[in-house]
Parts: sequence; structure tokens; C-alpha cells
Amino acid sequence: MPYYVGATFIVVLITLFAGLILWQEAKQRQQQSQMMMQNATTLLSHHIEGIFNEADTLLQAVSFHYRDQLLMEKFNPKRFNDYLQLALSWAPEFSNLGFLDAKGIYRFGIDQAQPIDLSEREYFTLLRDKPSGSAANGMIFSGPIFTKLSQRWALVLARRVDHPDGSFAGVLFVRWDIDRLTTLLESIHIGQKGTIELRTSDMVQVSRYPSIDPPELGPGNKRVPAHLSRMLQISPEGGSYRAISALDQIERHYTYLKVGEYPFLISAGLQAGYSFENWSVNTKLVLLLSALMILLTVAGARRMYRQSLRRIQQQLNSYAVRILTASPVAMMMLDSNGQITHANPAAKRLFGYPGDLLIGTAVVALHPASSQLSQAQRLKQIDQASELITEAEYVRLDGSPFSALQSLAALPDMDGNVNHYIETVVDITDLKLAQERLKKQAETDKLTGLLNRHSGDHVLTEAARIAENTGTAFSVIMCDIDHFKRVNDVYGHPEGDRVLVNVANILRDAVRAGDRCIRWGGEEFLIVLPGCPLPVATSLAKGLCLLIAESDNEKVGPVTMSFGVAQWVQHESVNELIERVDRALYEAKNSGRNRVVISAC
Ligand code: GH3
Ligand code: MG
Ligand code: MG
Repeated sequence: MPYYVGATFIVVLITLFAGLILWQEAKQRQQQSQMMMQNATTLLSHHIEGIFNEADTLLQAVSFHYRDQLLMEKFNPKRFNDYLQLALSWAPEFSNLGFLDAKGIYRFGIDQAQPIDLSEREYFTLLRDKPSGSAANGMIFSGPIFTKLSQRWALVLARRVDHPDGSFAGVLFVRWDIDRLTTLLESIHIGQKGTIELRTSDMVQVSRYPSIDPPELGPGNKRVPAHLSRMLQISPEGGSYRAISALDQIERHYTYLKVGEYPFLISAGLQAGYSFENWSVNTKLVLLLSALMILLTVAGARRMYRQSLRRIQQQLNSYAVRILTASPVAMMMLDSNGQITHANPAAKRLFGYPGDLLIGTAVVALHPASSQLSQAQRLKQIDQASELITEAEYVRLDGSPFSALQSLAALPDMDGNVNHYIETVVDITDLKLAQERLKKQAETDKLTGLLNRHSGDHVLTEAARIAENTGTAFSVIMCDIDHFKRVNDVYGHPEGDRVLVNVANILRDAVRAGDRCIRWGGEEFLIVLPGCPLPVATSLAKGLCLLIAESDNEKVGPVTMSFGVAQWVQHESVNELIERVDRALYEAKNSGRNRVVISAC
């Protein structure tokens, strides 16, 4: 048991150690991934801010150029268009640099062959309707729009251009294709189930990676995650939170950041638990080693425990062999087939088998043929917990039988399997003889050798029971020596005893084998006659009366006896029967002795 306590302690220690390492790794990875997310959003924000700055610079430069051309009255539409193409090549991020005139007609830029009316675009009307003046002349952004020119989703960044006199000349714009932004978002590693998106400050989605199939959830949609709008109220510049996405039900750590001074917002979400996905090699190694150590500890403890059990078992075995050898009681070990595998010297002596002759003998062969089958069944009855003790008959090698006390017990091995039994045999022949002797002594009258009164009661009860059950007849004779007191007085007590013995012998010799003679009192006898009807009992009594009267008692001479006879009647108790026969005897005495009186029912 201490092995298992020690092993449990070690296993707990290893598990705690491994758990600590995992916890630290998880924490570190979580911190790392959060930092990674922050860095990614910050870099992306700077990058997009840079693009917007570039767009603004480009728009301002072209705007100045346009005004210069007008001032110098050198404006040449074709040269201006070429200039726009040249300027666009300086900023390859954008897919178009164009100019809408004061009426909103697309005049210059890529594919301007067909003038297109874009006067309804919001950015145009906003810029047209703004009062002139540098303070109000900032760059404005369209939301994501599906452009007529390129048939793609794009962001348009625009500036108002005024004539030298301050009147509205038109709108200069650059187009930033959302495809490009999406490619940029794709290039950022946000884990398998991560998301990253750019929104306008009005919460209109510009682009999301990965994109979501239904077009209503694509660019331009205004579905705002509830958590994000709550967070923006608390911390509009940037922050982070953890939430379950309503779109795909995935829990993520979100980080969001405003794009510089521009009305845009980047939001990135890393799947919660992402940090547990890719454990470091070291951690995997620690886990593997921990599992290995736990396995080894458990296996080692088990092995040690079994070894110690085996040692104890071996020790016990050697004790058992010594005890077996020294024991005066016959003991044998049997295998599961009931063959003797070991027998101690006492067993060899008891059964009279020389040398190792007992070994390999089937144990049932030690019993008489009549009980071999029941003995074989007994062997099968013993299981691990039981022990069978009983009296059994055995035979020695020389064929002599004897009675013995037999004990059979299972001997389970370390795993509880029973493959061996131990049989103990104690010879009780002498004990049984002594028991028999004692029983006989207890039942017999010492002087006459007849049954005593105590066993007479049993004989009567049994005879009445049989008669009751079988309906057969059953009679009793009660007899008493006449004037016996005188015999004692005249010839002495020992002579009186001799007369008693003589009378007893006469009675015993006269009755049938199944009849019983009982010394009922001092010189009073009872003869129990099962199955005997009253006439037969009467004639027996009369015969006895004659026999006694004619008997010779040496010094004392003949004595006489008086007899009472009675037949048991149905349902009569033993006491009632004895009372009746006693009364008959009393009558025989009173009516002159040396006679037989029959009890009427
Ligand atoms: P009755 O004809 O009326 O039977 O006369 P009785 O003298 O036989 O009558 P009672 O029953 O008075 O006497 C019985 C005598 O038997 C008395 C007793 O001393 C004697 N007795 C009883 N048991 C023994 C015994 O074991 N040995 C001897 N020698 N005498 C015994
Ligand atoms: Mg008498
Ligand atoms: Mg008497």
C-alpha cells in the first residue's frame, strides 16, 4: 500500500508541475497573441493612414497644378489628362486619379472617353456645396461604393478644386479599390478562425477578411457588432474586448484601433483559445515526459507492490510447508483437478502410504467407493471464501476404513484465483467409539444392562409416534418383584442384586428382537412391545409370570412377579398409557400377586 501512496504523491506532483507549465505557456501565448493583434492593427492603421496621406498629397499637388495651368491660361485638356496619368503612376496604390467638372461630369482620368455624369455622388455634392476656403477644403471620403467606371467596390478620396477666383471648378479624386485593401488584410496572420476588417467611422464595413458570402454582409453593410458599438462609446480611439460573434458564433479576442485622424476603424479578432492551438515543442515535450513519468511511476509502483506481495507469499509458503511438516494433523494440498500435490508426514502415516505415493493420487481415492462421487462434488462446491467441515469416511492403503473430520478450504493466489485447496483430515475413530460408549452408558442400567428409565421415555414416545402414524397396535407390560424387600432383608442386598440380574435376563431373553426391556424403578420393569396387540402381550406376560416363578435364584430360591398389561389406544398419551398399566399392576398386587391383570381401555 505505501507504494501506491508514494506513487499517487509523485503522480500528483508531476501533474501539478505539468499543469503549471501549461498554464504559463497558455498565459504567455495569450499575451503574445494579444500583442501580435495590437501590433498588426497598429501597423495596418499606419499603413492605411500612409495611403490616405499619400492620396491627400497627390490630390493637393494635382489641384495646385490645375490652378497654375488656369492662372497661366495655359490649360490644355490633353496635357492635363496626361499629367493625371503621370501623377497616378507616382502612387500605384490607387487605380484612378480623375477630375469631375463643376457639373459633376467625369472629364479627366482613366477611361474618360465617354463623359459620365457623377454629379449625384455624395462626395461631389458635399464638396460642391462647401464654401470655398482652405480650411474647409479638406479631403473627404466616400463610403464604399460600387463604381460606374470600374464596376468594382472602391473607396473614393476626393478634394474640391476652385478656380483662381474662388468659384467651384470641380472635384479631384483618387480611387482605392477595395480588392487591394482585402489583399492587404489577407496578408496579416490572424489564425484559422480570426477576422480583420476596416470600417468607416459611420460603422459601414469597407472590407472584411475572411469575406462572408451573402452580398448584404459584404462591403457597404452596416451591421455593427453590439460589443464594438458599446466599446466605442467607452473608448473611441481603440481598445480590446472578448465576444462571441453573432455571424459565426465563434468567441474571439477583438482589438480595434482608429486609423490616425481619418474616419476609419480597424478591428481584428483572434479566436479565443487560439493560443492553446500551437503548443511549443518544449511544452509538448514536457507533457509527453510527464505522461511518460506518470506511466512509469504507476507501472513501477504496481510492479513493486506485486513483488512485495510475491515475497510475502513466498515467505508464507515456506512457513506453510514447515507448519504442514510439523503438524500432527494430516494435511494435503490439492490442485484444481483434486489431485494431491503435497501431503505432510501425518497424512502419509494416517493413510499408510509410503514415500511419495500419495502425491499425484486423486484425493477421492482415499474414500470408500460409495462416497467418492459425493466427495468429488464437494470439491467443486468450495469457492474462494468458503470452508467445508464435515464428517467423512476414508480408507487406508491397506483397505481398512475409518471415520474422520474433514476440512476443505480454498487457497486463492495473489489475484484471487483458486487453483489449490487444502484438505485436513482428523481421525475420529477413537472419539466415535468413546461417544458410542458414553451414549450406551447413558442409556443403560448399570446393574442389569437393560435400558434405564430415561431412555425408556424415548422408547415409549417413539413407539407411540410410530403407532399413531401407522395405525398399528402397541402394548406395554409393567411388572414388579413380589415382596422384594424381604429378599433384601433376609439374604442381604447383594443377593437381592443377583435376583434383579436374573429377572432382567429372563425378561430380555423372552422378548422379540424389536421389543425393549426397561428397568423402570428399583425392582420394577417395563416391556415395550411395538406392533403387538393386547392378546399377544397378555400371553407373553403370562408366560413370563410362569418363567419367573419357576426360575432358580440359588440361595434365594424362586421369586414371583406381578404383571399389568395395557394396549395403547389411538391418541392416548404416553403418560396416560403408563398410568393405566401401573393401575393394572397395582390390581395384580392387591389381588394376591404372581398374576397378570389386563387394563381395560
Ligand atoms: P411388593 O410385593 O408390594 O412389591 O413388596 P416389596 O417389598 O417388593 O415392595 P417395596 O417396593 O416396598 O420394596 C422394594 C424394595 O426393593 C425396596 C428396596 O430396598 C429394594 N430395592 C430397590 N432397588 C434395589 C436394588 O437395586 N438392589 C436391591 N438389592 N434392592 C433394591
Ligand atoms: Mg416389589
Ligand atoms: Mg416396587
